[in-house]
Amino acid sequence: MIEQRRILATAIPGPKSQALAARKVAAVSAGVGTGLPAYIEAAQDGILRDVDGNQLIDFGSGIAVTNVGNGNERVIAAVQRQIADFTHTCFMVTPYEEYVAVAEKLAELTPGAHEKRSALFNSGAEAVENAVKIARSATGRQAVVAFDHAYHGRTNLTMGLTAKNMPYKHRFGPFASEIYRVPMAYPYRWPTSPERCLEEAYAEFTDLVHAQIGEENTAAVIIEPIQGEGGFIVPPDGFLTRIADFCRDHGIVFIADEVQSGFCRTGDWFACDHEGVVPDLVTTAKGIAGGMPLAAVTGRAEIMDAVHSGGLGGTYGGNPVACAAALASMESMREDDLNAKARAIEDTLVPRLKEIADRTGVIGDIRGRGAMLAVELVEDQAKKTPRRR
Ligand SMILES: *Cc1c(COP(=O)(O)O)cnc(C)c1O
Repeated sequence: MIEQRRILATAIPGPKSQALAARKVAAVSAGVGTGLPAYIEAAQDGILRDVDGNQLIDFGSGIAVTNVGNGNERVIAAVQRQIADFTHTCFMVTPYEEYVAVAEKLAELTPGAHEKRSALFNSGAEAVENAVKIARSATGRQAVVAFDHAYHGRTNLTMGLTAKNMPYKHRFGPFASEIYRVPMAYPYRWPTSPERCLEEAYAEFTDLVHAQIGEENTAAVIIEPIQGEGGFIVPPDGFLTRIADFCRDHGIVFIADEVQSGFCRTGDWFACDHEGVVPDLVTTAKGIAGGMPLAAVTGRAEIMDAVHSGGLGGTYGGNPVACAAALASMESMREDDLNAKARAIEDTLVPRLKEIADRTGVIGDIRGRGAMLAVELVEDQAKKTPRRR
């Protein structure tokens, strides 16, 4: 057990971390950066302990992964049990129950009461790639619409879907074709006014799809219901519903990328639940399995089943140990009511952040839901000048 308390035993990084950082430079590609230069040897709940005995509060959470905390007892027990039984067979060759049980659980938890199917993968990027493959196969169309500020991963197709050049795309092109980008409904920075953001962003979206692609050529629209890496951008209420309705009217597959916003982070199981949006396909990963690598595409049975047998899969996708961890994580989220806890974090934090905004003048916008909260720093609150450092 690690006491849930911050302890600074040495400077950060301490001598052992510095020695490891030197080994890292000599052995690990410079392309793989590290945030904090402290090397971790143990973690429990919200505290990390580094190799020099410092205990640090885990604001990183493994990039929105350890929703149930590190060292969760249910997850540890499930993983240990599964490892002792077997670690791998490859579901496509010799199947096992855990994969099916995760798919059943996702059908129950994801938005909408329709019949659903799932396919399991290893990472968020792989889930997004497969969601696009499924949408193209089901519709016989090619074009995919993605939003400004989007983040969908680092593989070739998902780099193409991701908006930001640095650090994700710089010098890594050429990118996949048939990807079209539209403005995100970003109220704080909408060119006219936050009040007009909903109508105008929706109009730009429909105009661009119509004029540049053609509805009948559009396979899918993919959106993070709250953008994660792009800065926790929350579209105005009604935006997602209208995009979903537009997609339904035109036979376009509406994909909600809930890789980051899913699993209780926003105070709901999924960010789409907030306004009752029911996507055709949902991608999940990150928080799904208590830190074990697992991802999923879950969606309407008729879309998911449109793919030919053998068209989806991979060696490790839905690994049994990761599936056991996922079942235990989802059980913990329900038992410990993490949705209520996320809402309590919002209730505690937002008034404090408002107070800091008033006192310091450097916070232009406070946004997000549940525990998925952000502030946007500015030089000048009235002018909204971005703060560069
Ligand atoms: C992190 C993230 C991904 C990519 O997930 P990986 O597991 O890193 O491949 C995709 N979409 C969103 C919204 C993400 O936040």
